[in-house]
Amino acid sequence: MTPLILPAIAATILVTLGYAMVCAASPFGDCRRCGGLGFALRNDRHGIPKRGKTCRRCKGVGKRIRLGRHAYNLAYRTWRSGTR
Ligand SMILES: [Zn+2]
Repeated sequence: MTPLILPAIAATILVTLGYAMVCAASPFGDCRRCGGLGFALRNDRHGIPKRGKTCRRCKGVGKRIRLGRHAYNLAYRTWRSGTR
């Protein structure tokens, strides 16, 4: 089992680094609820998609902050308020 531990650690570090780079490159992702539209799609009686209710999760913005960026912001605020 021992030889498998090193590649596993390397893969974990690579994935974490990749995610950190994604968070740095684009801190906002599409809203998971509406897929970045900002509203729900509703079909009218002809089957044509229409703009439905404004998405409650993102309040119509269509973007959400990435978890990594959110954690970074919290850590930065904590560090900032502690460092004067
Ligand atoms: Zn949304």
